[in-house]
Amino acid sequence: MPSEAVHDSNVLSTALAEKNWKEMDYRQELKRNITNVDELSRYLPLTAEEKNDIRQIEQIHPIIIPRYYLSLIDPQDKDDPIRRLCVPDAQEMIVAGGMGDTTQDPYGDDKHDKGNGVLHKYDYTALVVTSEYCAMYCRHCFRKRMVGLTNDKTVKNFHKAAEYIADHPEITNVVMSGGDPLMLPTKILKKMLDSLRDIPHLNHVRIGSRVPVSYPIRLFDDELIEVLKDFNSAKTLFVPTHFNHPREITSVSTEAVKRLRDVGVTVNNQAVLLAGVNDNVKTLRDLMNGLLRIGVNPYYLYQCMPVARVRHHFQVPLKKGVDLVDEARRYFDGYAKRFKFIIAHDIGKLEICGRIGNKLVLKQLHARHGRDEEISRLLVRELTETGGWLDDLPEASL
Ligand code: SF4
Repeated sequence: MPSEAVHDSNVLSTALAEKNWKEMDYRQELKRNITNVDELSRYLPLTAEEKNDIRQIEQIHPIIIPRYYLSLIDPQDKDDPIRRLCVPDAQEMIVAGGMGDTTQDPYGDDKHDKGNGVLHKYDYTALVVTSEYCAMYCRHCFRKRMVGLTNDKTVKNFHKAAEYIADHPEITNVVMSGGDPLMLPTKILKKMLDSLRDIPHLNHVRIGSRVPVSYPIRLFDDELIEVLKDFNSAKTLFVPTHFNHPREITSVSTEAVKRLRDVGVTVNNQAVLLAGVNDNVKTLRDLMNGLLRIGVNPYYLYQCMPVARVRHHFQVPLKKGVDLVDEARRYFDGYAKRFKFIIAHDIGKLEICGRIGNKLVLKQLHARHGRDEEISRLLVRELTETGGWLDDLPEASL
């Protein structure tokens, strides 16, 4: 990389760092998203080899990086954790390798697809895939098989999805997911929410969104906040979000979260344990404590799933992960400790409780339809040095 180009990318990155993101029109700024390697190389020093790799990867999993998120990267640090979350890495070309098998759909979403974007895996929860579009395409995304790609999994007619939910009185809550529902045009989001607000058996609705982290500019749109406020006055609204690193907690994201909290929306965080991003005690400690400081509840820390083109560079072996999380918990007060370390498995959600010697103890929190007896059962597995998923670990007993 010629030094002049390094200098230029520094200047550009500095210019981004100084922008007043809160004042921007979110639609205009979206048009300036980084979507290919040539644009990216204006901001980050990339070698010819890196450019070549990224060109190949962008054919398989597209790139979108908002300039705001790009401004959080240290351009001179190749191992920068923020960079790892948004810039493609050559390792994304590895489908199977050292960590074991991979799959496109580790959570078994497709088996519970009821059409119209409705995934109904647990009796009490319906998830609606509202869009395949996000403000940013995260490199560790577990829905890589659909996000940013043309597919038939997302909702085409939300009224039909709402009809399904209304016809199933066992459903107590809806998760609007994607893609990112907060990136839908406000009018469409309002229509979707309107079709849920009068379903009597729904206790609450969740809008899963990474917008507070990757594109907080969207939350400075008063019309959107008014829609969320209005819905929350009729039915309780939660926004599960996805901060993975304390450097994602900025003055802009803090204020964006505050705008949600000011209209009574509770914001919970679902992080993922990711190699080279947050797989050390200090980062986990700063993340959970930093979230509490801005009024976001640490809710889940997911074990990275065995997703094709994700697993081999992001997954942390369970043996290492459980020790890290246990050590980090020593520094947490009661509220910071409330998050659960989770495996979101095809059979259901499993809490990783801890280890006794070399035995990993898990508790099943949710089970598939018709498998009620699995809820609350304990599972025990033998830890191995490299095993990163339930299926990698031999069954064991205490
Ligand atoms: S915002 Fe969520 S759904 Fe979208 S790419 Fe990132 S992790 Fe995947």
